[in-house]
Amino acid sequence: MALIVQKFGGTSVGTPERIKAVAERIKRHVDKGDQIVVVVSAMSGETSRLLTLSQSITAQPDARELDVLLSTGEQVTIALLSMALHDLSLGARSYTGGQVKLLTDSVFSKARIKQIDKKAILADLTNDQVVVIAGFQGVDGSGNITTLGRGGSDTTAVAIAAAINADECQIYTDVDGVYTTDPRVVSCAQRLDRITFEEMLEMASLGSKVLQIRAVEFAGKYQVPLRVLSSFKEGPGTLISIDENADMEAALVSGIAFNRDEARIIVRGVPDMPGVAYKVIGPVSDANIEVDVIVQNVAADGSTDITFTVHRNELDKAHAIAEKTVKELSAREVAVDGNICKVSLVGVGMRSHAGIASQMFKVLADAGINIELITTSEIKISVVIEEKYMELAVRALHTEFGLDQPESE
Ligand code: ASP
Ligand code: MG
Repeated sequence: MALIVQKFGGTSVGTPERIKAVAERIKRHVDKGDQIVVVVSAMSGETSRLLTLSQSITAQPDARELDVLLSTGEQVTIALLSMALHDLSLGARSYTGGQVKLLTDSVFSKARIKQIDKKAILADLTNDQVVVIAGFQGVDGSGNITTLGRGGSDTTAVAIAAAINADECQIYTDVDGVYTTDPRVVSCAQRLDRITFEEMLEMASLGSKVLQIRAVEFAGKYQVPLRVLSSFKEGPGTLISIDENADMEAALVSGIAFNRDEARIIVRGVPDMPGVAYKVIGPVSDANIEVDVIVQNVAADGSTDITFTVHRNELDKAHAIAEKTVKELSAREVAVDGNICKVSLVGVGMRSHAGIASQMFKVLADAGINIELITTSEIKISVVIEEKYMELAVRALHTEFGLDQPESE
């Protein structure tokens, strides 16, 4: 017997038929003797529909009232799913965020969870009830309804799993797991059986958007084993958990992430003296522009170059700021490039192995791809290259690091 939190996203509960299918799936677990807490999203498209509806009343809806509105989507699905479970002769009780006392701060539309009262949940489980909880919503200290931000049901599920000390938190979605890279770029990408929280965060923040990042961080912090699996086809999915490092044969590289949304800015001929990095980067972050890679060259002739990357949407803004800085510092010039991408090898196995970087650089050299910037961390090596070479680079690296699916499959 296991205590499992199962989260079903909008597509999984998108129609009455799908809600019934979810109920059948839950029944199979209950029949095995598992105790189940279910967290559901609104039916697909519903949250966006409600947002549009508010816009048709006013361009600037009141934040408190918007959360009252948006939270109704999930309230519909908890009731419908509970009814579907009853139809299968299962005991089930639905709870809104407020009813389950999922306490948050008062920041409407992006509230943070503070505390969950697990008493009612545990009491229901003891009485053989399936507990069905609305995702994405909570209540603040004054009883106001709050929501957790788009995609927030993942975080609700993980928080509840942590609170009741569940054996596993299962996120049912429309993909059957986390892949070695995006299968749309590399058709022989493989589903990973396991991945660590750290690796998942690197993969997710770099574009393999399967799970809300906040939910992965939360799961890592409270060490809640998290499994991503398909709500449409049977299969083990991908387990995201801590690095047990037991398997010495484990792959050095677990996956390849990439990101086409970056742009590069070089500030050339910056005087080499204390404070210049701050003067170049400071105004950019003050403008709330997120800076990703930063590289400063070793100075020659008393001047240096500072290169950094930003999201492509913010290139123009960051460029304008850099031009101003160049004047202030009497630096030489600014050069920008909006046609770059970042490709990263991710793997906890890299920690204990030198040589991965040089192997990566050789693959790119053999493919005739010029590397513009390189950054490394303990479990990641990233290169910035011309965007037009992205797919070529990802495919070559995928093969080189043994990630391609065996042909027999
Ligand atoms: N229904 C909310 C949204 O669409 C929350 C969720 O699906 O996780 O963002
Ligand atoms: Mg969702």
